[in-house]
Amino acid sequence: MRILLVEDDALLGDGIRAGMMLANYAVDWAQDGKMALAALSDHTYDACILDLGLPDRDGLTVLKEIRTRGNHTPVLVLTARDTSEDKIAGLDHGADDYLTKPFDLGELQARIRALVRRAGGTAQPLLQYKGVHLDPSSKRVTLHGQDVPLSGREYSLLLTLMTHPTRIHSKSQLEDSLYAWGDEAGSNTVEVFIHHLRKKFGSDFIKTVRGLGYQLASNDT
Ligand code: CA
Repeated sequence: MRILLVEDDALLGDGIRAGMMLANYAVDWAQDGKMALAALSDHTYDACILDLGLPDRDGLTVLKEIRTRGNHTPVLVLTARDTSEDKIAGLDHGADDYLTKPFDLGELQARIRALVRRAGGTAQPLLQYKGVHLDPSSKRVTLHGQDVPLSGREYSLLLTLMTHPTRIHSKSQLEDSLYAWGDEAGSNTVEVFIHHLRKKFGSDFIKTVRGLGYQLASNDT
């Protein structure tokens, strides 16, 4: 799971990034609107946390522009403005949720989990597939009721697959979801993590779709 953080305040941005990384998200951090627009056209994000008061333009214009381009990334607006007019304007410009500063990091994490979940088409907080249960709020993963320990990136990859079980994920999309700017990705890392997940959950848990990528469930099942 990869998210874009758009925030110009260094201290706050640093805190949010650290908090989201602890929750196993790969986090790209853009400090102005121009960087944010470039990032959103170059990468696919599972969610975007967007501050409204940016140095070069209003966050709402960033939001309006990406929605005009047909970009449906779930966006949570962060705002110091707590008037209802501002909230209405944000939602009308295509925001999916908003949080007023100052806010609790735990609440931000919970709201991002909910946005990602809804974007995956499920309202259920607990993900399950073939005896595997994944609880995004506690990061607990079990197979037939037994806890399965996972590394941070194994967990992140499993979360992406289970959030969109019928989607075919190409190797580069999965790579994109695991690594933020500046992270070094080895050449075969996605294959290695898939291999680890199959060892833990069974060889047929993740299907290889020849020439296309990986998938949990076929569309017809
Ligand atoms: Ca700001």
